[in-house]
Amino acid sequence: MNKAKAYSAVSAISPLASTTIPRRDATENDVQIEILFCGICHSDLHSVCNEWSEFMPTVFPIVPGHEIVGRVTKVGPAVTKFKPGDLAVVGCMVDSDGTCPECRAGFENFCPNMTLTFNSPDKHLGGVTYGGYSESIVVDQRFVLRVPSNLKLAGAAPLLCAGITTYSPMRRWGVTKGKKAGVVGLGGLGHMAVKLAHAFGAHVVVFTTSPNKKEDALRLGADEVVISRNADEMQKHAESFDFILDAVSADHDINAYINLLRRDGNLTIVGAPPEPLGVSAFGLIMRRRSFSGSNIGGIAETQEMLDFCGKHNITADVEVIPIQKVNEAYERLLKSDVKYRFSIDMASLKSE
Ligand SMILES: [Zn+2]
Ligand SMILES: [Zn+2]
Repeated sequence: MNKAKAYSAVSAISPLASTTIPRRDATENDVQIEILFCGICHSDLHSVCNEWSEFMPTVFPIVPGHEIVGRVTKVGPAVTKFKPGDLAVVGCMVDSDGTCPECRAGFENFCPNMTLTFNSPDKHLGGVTYGGYSESIVVDQRFVLRVPSNLKLAGAAPLLCAGITTYSPMRRWGVTKGKKAGVVGLGGLGHMAVKLAHAFGAHVVVFTTSPNKKEDALRLGADEVVISRNADEMQKHAESFDFILDAVSADHDINAYINLLRRDGNLTIVGAPPEPLGVSAFGLIMRRRSFSGSNIGGIAETQEMLDFCGKHNITADVEVIPIQKVNEAYERLLKSDVKYRFSIDMASLKSE
């Protein structure tokens, strides 16, 4: 067993602070990774504050982080995919049973025995898994992916959660050239969705409540921007969308967007409002529209997304911070005061 420097929170009301955590020695199929960058995802914050206690209670201390980019330092004897010195990335999952129907279909993300990168029972060391706010991590090679060498590493980190969360539903619902795709909410997820939908060749429309985001939306790849509070602007797009990705996690009127879908159009929600949404059955029935959810993506699809981003030179827009600024970053994240994702430069942990 190795000791690794990390940042953890000891309770739902404690700030993150420097600590050391155990990491297992690399076994047969393991890849040991020195972490270079880790993105800050909204779920890090939800977990640290134990806001999802109903279905995913946080075990403290917690080390969050599931947007991990690093360099391989050691591999187990059975590892063929990686060698020391290679770049390697890890997302939201670090293990699954590999045998259930979901795993066999390539949907490790829906495996009932999937191990999340943090706050999941740790099969090797007991306790729970610790995430990427750390100097190193040890992960089974099946869950370690390759990042294309042309991508900037700090901005590549968020691809592992924000990227795949938006890529997967767009692939599922066939967002391609000739299709009209909407993105609701221009935050960490939304800004990735705009870049990806644009790269897929779709006509991209961003919905936002803030007129001051218009310029940015266009720069990111939107063809049009609609101020969602303006009923006339919304009406102009009635029944015209093939697909809309909804990345808003606050309460909002979902029917206003469903009504913008054409026949057989789909609205996929990836934000998670705390209260149930009121969905009008009529809105769905009248044009055979569908309303669905999505949750990250399988391992093969995540690699496909990384390769796609490599080909189109897509990374997240990030503000790079040292780990010592993580608590400040959380406060700013609550106010949506970041364009559009924080990425922690893990070299800053060396001075702790
Ligand atoms: Zn995430
Ligand atoms: Zn499984």
